[in-house]
Amino acid sequence: MTKPKVLLVLYEGGHHAKEQPKLLGAIENELGLRKFIEDHGYELVSTIDKDPEPHSKVDQELPDAEIVISTPFFPLYLTRTRIAKSPNLKIAITAGVGSDHVDLDAANERNISVLEVTGSNVQSVAEHAMMTILTLVRNFVPAHDYAVNGKWDIAAIARDEYDLEDKVIATVGAGRIGYRILERLIAFNPKKLLYYDYQELPADAIKKLNEASKLFNGVDNIVERVENLEDMVSQADIVTINCPLHDNSRGLFNKDLIAKMKKGSYLVNTARGAICVEQDVADAVNSGHLAGYGGDVWYPQPAPKDHPWRSMKNANGGGNAMTPHISGTSLDAQARYAAGVKQILTEYFNKTYKYRPQDVICIDGDYATKAYGQREKK
Ligand code: NAD
Repeated sequence: MTKPKVLLVLYEGGHHAKEQPKLLGAIENELGLRKFIEDHGYELVSTIDKDPEPHSKVDQELPDAEIVISTPFFPLYLTRTRIAKSPNLKIAITAGVGSDHVDLDAANERNISVLEVTGSNVQSVAEHAMMTILTLVRNFVPAHDYAVNGKWDIAAIARDEYDLEDKVIATVGAGRIGYRILERLIAFNPKKLLYYDYQELPADAIKKLNEASKLFNGVDNIVERVENLEDMVSQADIVTINCPLHDNSRGLFNKDLIAKMKKGSYLVNTARGAICVEQDVADAVNSGHLAGYGGDVWYPQPAPKDHPWRSMKNANGGGNAMTPHISGTSLDAQARYAAGVKQILTEYFNKTYKYRPQDVICIDGDYATKAYGQREKK
């Protein structure tokens, strides 16, 4: 009898995965789950060969797969057509946070459960967003380039270098990551913290930020909710994007919205690349309307070599703080999301299905979360 199949797609680790066993998210280390999966009577197929559809190993394996596991860093794009060719698929698990690589509507239509390890890397991403904000505002990248290349032109760097203190900083999305960024920003004594989210922050969360600001900086009422996104971005020196990718956030930051941002402001996106229109962002950085853009997320991933975010920069050579998609895959985060996947699989294998409620994105043919867009409950 053939065994049911788990299909695991992870990024390649090569010698790094051998030298660093904590790289659980690399294909060689398989989240540390091979024995666990096989002991439950399943066959584990792990691969990096995910693109292009329909000519990859993933496409060959999907028709037999009951479980797929993938990460946002090297996503298996589980499209509607792939789902249609996967009659045995019951559950798609994201090792990390953010399940937009799955066509969630198509998954619901087929009653495929979609789960992720909510919270597993939110501190990692908040730290990366903070780093990116500072990298841009302090004009770090060209400064470092000067340092390692034997140059010493202070004015060339300082002409575009500011302090984070006394700036207006705005987040699109104030969930786990957005809120953590607001918490961390208090330490920099901002002028104002703004947020735009259709879900209001709980009163105690606002109180905590306001009290911290009062205590550390002597500034009261630091946080403000803004109902209109254009209003918010027009007030901000720095905008950070922290909402999931879904129908209403795809392409949200296009040339029209970017035009509403202050000239010389910064845009940081560690949420998902496709929330921004790539050429519109590059044009805004190249023209100087945006002083800089940074983040770690792209579409598609891996990003093509000629993706405009690889080469965009302002007139003085700065304004680009892009990295590959690494923020949520620190070694600490990998330990957390590997453990979270094991916990989800345990519930699935044991047929108890007592998943942590916050991990469930889609179940029983419907969305179980309010984070992937406002919609009426069926
Ligand atoms: P979360 O569910 O805790 O919070 C998301 C918030 O965004 C919610 O409050 C929701 O209401 C809000 N939201 C949804 N659509 C919105 C919109 N159009 N405008 C404004 N707000 C909107 O999720 P989280 O843990 O904070 O993660 C947020 C996203 O960050 C993930 O979905 C994922 O795409 C991304 N992420 C990236 C990495 C990385 O490695 N770069 C890692 C983790 C998560």
